[in-house]
Amino acid sequence: MFKTQTCGELRATDDRKIVKLAGWVHRRRDHGGVIFIDLRDRFGITQVVIRSGTPDAAEDVFKVAESLRSEYVAQIEGVVELRPPNMRNPKMETGEIEVGATRIVVLNPARTTPFLIDSDGRDVDENIRLRYRYLDLRRERMQKNLITRHRFIKFIRDYLDARGFLEIETPILFKTTPEGARDYLVPSRIYPGAFYALPQSPQQLKQLLQVAGIERYFQIARCFRDEDQRADRQPEFTQLDMEMSFVDRDDVLQLIEGLLTEFTEKHTSKKLIAKPFPRFSYAEAMEKYGIDKPDIRFGLELFNVTAATRDSQFQVFAGAPVVKGFAAPGCGSYTRKQIDELTDLAKRKGAKGLVTMVHDAQGIRSQGAAAKLGDAEKAAILAAANSKPGDLLLFVADSAKVANETLAELRLEMGHRLKLADDNVMAFCWVIDFPLFEWNEEEKRWDPSHHMFTAPKDEYIPTLESNPGGVLSKQYDLACNGYEVGGGSIRIHRRDIQEIIMRLIGLEMEDARRKFGHLLEAFEYGAPPHGGIAPGIDRLTMLYCDEPNIREVIAFPKNQQAADVMAGAPSPVYDVQLKELHLKIVD
Ligand code: ASP
Repeated sequence: MFKTQTCGELRATDDRKIVKLAGWVHRRRDHGGVIFIDLRDRFGITQVVIRSGTPDAAEDVFKVAESLRSEYVAQIEGVVELRPPNMRNPKMETGEIEVGATRIVVLNPARTTPFLIDSDGRDVDENIRLRYRYLDLRRERMQKNLITRHRFIKFIRDYLDARGFLEIETPILFKTTPEGARDYLVPSRIYPGAFYALPQSPQQLKQLLQVAGIERYFQIARCFRDEDQRADRQPEFTQLDMEMSFVDRDDVLQLIEGLLTEFTEKHTSKKLIAKPFPRFSYAEAMEKYGIDKPDIRFGLELFNVTAATRDSQFQVFAGAPVVKGFAAPGCGSYTRKQIDELTDLAKRKGAKGLVTMVHDAQGIRSQGAAAKLGDAEKAAILAAANSKPGDLLLFVADSAKVANETLAELRLEMGHRLKLADDNVMAFCWVIDFPLFEWNEEEKRWDPSHHMFTAPKDEYIPTLESNPGGVLSKQYDLACNGYEVGGGSIRIHRRDIQEIIMRLIGLEMEDARRKFGHLLEAFEYGAPPHGGIAPGIDRLTMLYCDEPNIREVIAFPKNQQAADVMAGAPSPVYDVQLKELHLKIVD
């Protein structure tokens, strides 16, 4: 063995022990005659001391110590010594001791690294970090993230195993799956012109496992979606994919809630905002927060004064389909410049503009837009806004879609500016009762809001075809701190209903059979009622680790242009490879 202990292990009780350690030179401090080495491995850091001319360090040990540089790999033999009381470091787990080196072996020298390992890396260009990811991952911050991720996944496995779930792997080379994103395709060598698709999720397979009688399935599943990149998206990402038979919505919600509550409370320093997790209907979430993944760490709830301003003298309000807003506490004295910044943000979200008013001691101050409002209107606004003197009222008058999207963004911006969101809180909430369909204006057809296997609520089955837009579904989403961290549904398990849905979303039966015939067929052999969910491991880990994006909790992520800048992927291939795959590149 290269080491008798890890670099995180030695304590005062090990005094005088003879030990061997091995790791990387984290830091070297040369105090002329005394050299200190901080030796690092995955488990911690131990201070090693080499004194020139003392009996426990022959001169050649000192020479080797002098030659050590950052990130050299070294093995050190020596004796554990208590540090003098004034030299103890309570911030270091091994801070009570140091190791007096009697022998140092350089196992491997290292080039000067392109960036410091001894920092959190936040000031280093991300592409450089990703280019040298194997060095970047040596940072304490990144190691902590990987450990948290591992602990979370291990917890999930144990938690579900104890509840009768089976972990089952499903294929990566499969067929297109209907999550609504673009597929990654893999050309077949054996079948010219045919392709596998990488699964956007194991959706169909986990449903087939229910037909197979598994009843409780899960998988830490890799999913592939060819979408434009954002901070919380990657071409491949990991979900806790689950499916259960003979369950209702609340069974699924309770299971996930139990899992996340226990993990958060027992294994992290985060606090839950509420137990049980609050639930909002989709309609309520849109009305109050303008979005279906609300950040409920703070209030700033939206109010709706459309009715009260229908006949307003202020044309911007009177002429708009929807007038909504919220009160920003204590921001009544915002400067022109601050308001212009918010207006720019509103315009970037597609709004024609932003209307602001000040609530002062007399009520709504009569200036600008407010000068055109009648007393009754002002009173109605104040009643709806629930604001206090000194607050700034922000309004967007537009289509419901634009008003909601803009105000949702402004609400987050103000929550951020006013420091209302506590990073130490995991504000989980459920959003339920989604519409089953969304109208696709371009294609002039209904799209499934979730995916086409989601069941309508029972009471809407009779009106599925006569009023598809009014149908609510058995979909549920889990949100946390403004991120969607999971989604699922109770599924359709009857072929006749599945066929109606396919027809409504414009899937010709022919096409449906080609794509999903296996599933439709399976439903004829006794499919149990079933449902599931897929919480996102990357996003949840990101929140548990206080990281700003999911790349920080993935060992080898793609950059924001979907490229692996370390290995250089994607990359061109040889002509022979193309030929074998029956492919030709055309410009
Ligand atoms: N397959 C779905 C998704 O990836 C989750 C589910 O319905 O279970 O969003």
